[in-house]
Amino acid sequence: MTLEMLLREGKERLAEAGVADAALDARYLLLDVWEMNLAAFLTCRGRELSPDRNREEGERIRRYRELIEQRAGRTPLQQLTGCQEFMGLPFRVNAHVLIPRQDTETLVELVLKEQAGSGGALLDMCTGSGCIAVSLAKLGDFSRVVAADISREALEVADENRRAILEDEGERLLLAESDMFAQIGRRERFDVITSNPPYIPSQVIEGLEPEVRDHEPRLALDGAADGLKFYRILADGCREHLIPGGYVYMEIGWDQAEDVKRIFEDHGYKKLTVTKDMAGLDRVVRAVWPGKGEENHV
Ligand code: GLN
Repeated sequence: MTLEMLLREGKERLAEAGVADAALDARYLLLDVWEMNLAAFLTCRGRELSPDRNREEGERIRRYRELIEQRAGRTPLQQLTGCQEFMGLPFRVNAHVLIPRQDTETLVELVLKEQAGSGGALLDMCTGSGCIAVSLAKLGDFSRVVAADISREALEVADENRRAILEDEGERLLLAESDMFAQIGRRERFDVITSNPPYIPSQVIEGLEPEVRDHEPRLALDGAADGLKFYRILADGCREHLIPGGYVYMEIGWDQAEDVKRIFEDHGYKKLTVTKDMAGLDRVVRAVWPGKGEENHV
């Protein structure tokens, strides 16, 4: 038995289970278990393994086969390796958080561009793994960042990412256990609020890939019957927690731009924009809160 043979065995098992990227996923799992990079694998893939004489080798083979079985059961690859890169930074993930998506980098890049040199305070609502809050704290110009989530388990993941990625700058990012704005101080004001809230209409979730439907947290996906529940709460709450002229940036589903814009316009926000993701789909809505009584001046 060689690594090459184990790779082929894993690939075949995953393909048979209907996993889209069977070859790639088998390779990632193999490299993860053997703690190797691709170059090391290419060098030793043909070497005969000796699980009977080498206990560690036997243990790795067992672990690899176990992970292949879990992946065949459609557990997301990132929950098995425990990590996902986002904005070039290594984020830890588990089953309590949504796996950071490339789509969400569109939001982070827009904030970095529009808020360069801001020096202000940022609130990230529904932070999950902390991918938006931590990458903006790391790459942006915010003096203070608050990352809020209803899930204590998610905040534990965000905390781990905060420590590992921000290191001794970690104190600039505060975590808050809060059901939307419930625990955000009544007088607290931010220059910028970001959010990737749950936005999938409840019935649509049943039709998603098993990786998402069965393994990612429902709490992070389910936007109630029309998918818009959390945008209404954001439109209401951001008015109380943005400075006059403050910005809110939200990730949206590809078909939600008009609805979300309307909700925010109806609440008195101005300067609405929609930004597309790399696939050319509407992905981010931005709105500006003019401040009470100043609605006409913006
Ligand atoms: N974009 C995610 C998906 O399609 C959903 C993210 C969300 O609900 N915030 O699975």
